[in-house]
Amino acid sequence: VDIFACVIGSALRRRESMFHLAPGDGQIRLVYPFWVVAGAMTAPFLVDTGFGADVAGLRGVEEYLDPTEALARAGVSPQDIDLVVISHLHYDHFGTPERFPKATFAIQREDVEYYTRRGLRHPFRTLGDAKSLEQLAALRSAGRIRELHGDVTLTRGVRCVLVGGHSPGMQIVVLDDRQSRTVLACDASHFYQNLETRTPTALVHDYEAYQRGFETVERQTGAGRWFPGHDPAMLERLEPVAGAVYRVPREPRG
Ligand SMILES: [Zn+2]
Repeated sequence: VDIFACVIGSALRRRESMFHLAPGDGQIRLVYPFWVVAGAMTAPFLVDTGFGADVAGLRGVEEYLDPTEALARAGVSPQDIDLVVISHLHYDHFGTPERFPKATFAIQREDVEYYTRRGLRHPFRTLGDAKSLEQLAALRSAGRIRELHGDVTLTRGVRCVLVGGHSPGMQIVVLDDRQSRTVLACDASHFYQNLETRTPTALVHDYEAYQRGFETVERQTGAGRWFPGHDPAMLERLEPVAGAVYRVPREPRG
């Protein structure tokens, strides 16, 4: 399989928002990737979608690259995508679903229920993009949301594992081919350091589940490799393909 990271922007955020209860202030840079998985076994599919320019402007994302342009650099058109795995429903992972007219969106039931609930008033709600979330209900009635219940093998070598913690239905994606295993941890660990120091971000839905999620990422990774959700350091472990699009090396680097 070829696994591409499409990095569609970056932003400076408060350090304390990324490392809950950790000492020190100041800012830390995040990158915003989504993933394309293409292989002989399966039609290309996405893990997350990125977001539109309006959202980038609203959320202070710099160096913005349109996701459709990023996909083109990975050799894929949004019209051809029939599966999008959504790690969770935050704005930077689920945006502009209208760009994928043929796609079914595979999302954990907990996130779908949480983000379609009416009258949710606490600030966590605002981590989703209102415009994209509005489309959830319509996608659901059109039968284009595949609600996952826990750990699910989508197709050979592609498994979703529910971890929760950061978001009610936060899931990671485990990809196997003959050579290696790759785990896309997404926001189960924004940075390598979150997992390494067992420090969640300040964006916590369930603290205990967040902690168990770190263990799940490690256990699922085994002798393979894993990539965090927003750490610029991951780019050094990827091969540049074309401006802001990177590929996971075929062989794990020693
Ligand atoms: Zn998130």
